[in-house]
Amino acid sequence: MQSFPSSAPGRVVILATGGTIAGTAAQPLDVLGYVAAQVGIEELVAALPGLDEQPLETEQVAQLDSKDMDIEVWRALVLRARHHLARPDVAGIVVTHGTDTLEETAYLLQRVLAPSKPLVLTAAMRPSTSLQADGPQNLIDAVNVARVAGASGVVVVMAGWLHGALDVRKTHTHRLDAFGCGDAGPLGRIDAGRLRRVRDWPHGVALGADVLDVDRWPRVEIVLSHAGASGAIVDALLAQGVDGIVAAGTGNGTLHHALEAALLRAKAEGVAVWRSSRVADGGVLSAADAVLPDSGPLTPVQARVELILQLLQCRSVRA
Ligand code: ASP
Repeated sequence: MQSFPSSAPGRVVILATGGTIAGTAAQPLDVLGYVAAQVGIEELVAALPGLDEQPLETEQVAQLDSKDMDIEVWRALVLRARHHLARPDVAGIVVTHGTDTLEETAYLLQRVLAPSKPLVLTAAMRPSTSLQADGPQNLIDAVNVARVAGASGVVVVMAGWLHGALDVRKTHTHRLDAFGCGDAGPLGRIDAGRLRRVRDWPHGVALGADVLDVDRWPRVEIVLSHAGASGAIVDALLAQGVDGIVAAGTGNGTLHHALEAALLRAKAEGVAVWRSSRVADGGVLSAADAVLPDSGPLTPVQARVELILQLLQCRSVRA
């Protein structure tokens, strides 16, 4: 267990990308009818008690609703994060983000950068104009976490929880406490400005941002197995051209026979096909007789990011 006492010297850089944390609604009680990504990061920080007195820098990398996250913003974010992480005067990075695709961005940042300083994503479920906006406290907690001396890796701070980038997923559509880590559980808890850390931060070998430096990222799509599924979507993807398919299967990654037949056709045509599970927790436990590889503990959206990265790596090895 560890509380917050050991703050690293240096600056925290906040890279802003938009989301509900920067959203506005016409009425302070309206927590649904708002527009995300309206308020600039300087304005958000200026409104927070104490933050404006800390050694902070802000940079608006993007201003979007994260449901619309795309490759260009991902690439820009990775490059700006890499730039600031390399600065000796920077203790850590905070990224403000929408909640919708936060888990995908967190996974990407950890796998590509695996930073040796804290890189902390945070978000909000209520817009900045809400009577009970959660963004301000989340942002203050994230800045504190970004200063934890000796910490490293990508984490998510939300509603007092510290989640690891490789495990985190959105688990609720409207509660403030909207994220979880499945079977892995959270990394820690922040209460009254104190961090109780219960397990280690994510670590691993960075793939390096250069892997993203290609003209065209591989196209990887997710298809869902369900009652009455067919192979029609897979066939349509094959006709259009697709590099990879993640099948969100039932249970332990099982597939409707019609979908499985289409996926095997795709595999035979050279498409990378992985099985994951549409079930929230548990992932897929490998079976020796499985005809299609599985993505282990990864959720379908994490598996999609991982497959993109693996295909990019194969390309850079071949190039
Ligand atoms: N649609 C918003 C976004 O992901 C939702 C949020 O931030 O909570 O940007």
